[in-house]
Amino acid sequence: MLIVGAHMSVAKGYANMGRETLAMGANTLQFFARNPRGAKARAFDEEDVLTFAGMFGEGGLQKIVAHAPYTMNACSADPHLRELAAEMMAGDLVIMEYLPGNFYNFHPGSHVGQGVETAICQIAETLNKVLYPEMKTMVLLETMAGKGTEVGRTFEELRAIIDKVECRDKLGICMDSCHMWDAGYDIAGHLDETLQEFDAIIGLDKLKAFHLNDSLNERGSHKDRHALLGEGKIGMTAIKAMLTHPALCRLPFLLETPTDNAGHAEEIARLKAAVAAK
Ligand code: FE
Ligand code: FE
Ligand code: ZN
Repeated sequence: MLIVGAHMSVAKGYANMGRETLAMGANTLQFFARNPRGAKARAFDEEDVLTFAGMFGEGGLQKIVAHAPYTMNACSADPHLRELAAEMMAGDLVIMEYLPGNFYNFHPGSHVGQGVETAICQIAETLNKVLYPEMKTMVLLETMAGKGTEVGRTFEELRAIIDKVECRDKLGICMDSCHMWDAGYDIAGHLDETLQEFDAIIGLDKLKAFHLNDSLNERGSHKDRHALLGEGKIGMTAIKAMLTHPALCRLPFLLETPTDNAGHAEEIARLKAAVAAK
């Protein structure tokens, strides 16, 4: 079964977001657990979250992903901002425990001149404050494009973070096709080899979710500009190959393409048709 959905808005509540998702022909979704550019958490309505939790299962929602705000930086040079990152993550994870078995994805961070080594230690330190053995949510490190001083542009950097985390069974990876392409991985021409490299360095068992985006820019550009599926440099043939690849086909695929719900519904219909035709 293809698990596919898009980035959704939770502004009108969790249950409403779930209904909108199913109405789009999707069976998964991603949402910002709080304002993507700020730190403020939305008011927590327990009943709404419980209604949403009831929408999972056969014929309903499958594995979903909450995304941490872009501004959160677990490897900021400012210790107060690192502390704030840990607080935000811990707060979001309280809500995620109402939705057991799902994912919380975050950008590892930007080292802002401190260097990758220091940043990797700080990210792991943040995770060691937040992760605990009994948690029912898996936290995901996203593969990054390498824009500016972003950490997580290579599989090696992600592996180095995982190695320093105590509860590493609560830690996984979310691949982003645009980011990997922009980072330099040839997921269009050499998908098999790229996944083999990932398996050798991190292990495919750690791969839990997939952001399906085309890219506006050339491979290795380090730009991170998402394009509509088939309208970027990755292309529809390569995107179809990702959906049906044996190492990827069971993952939740989340669209972060620059369009609205109606546009995402149309892309999802195209992806389903492409997989059915295989
Ligand atoms: Fe992201
Ligand atoms: Fe992404
Ligand atoms: Zn991106």
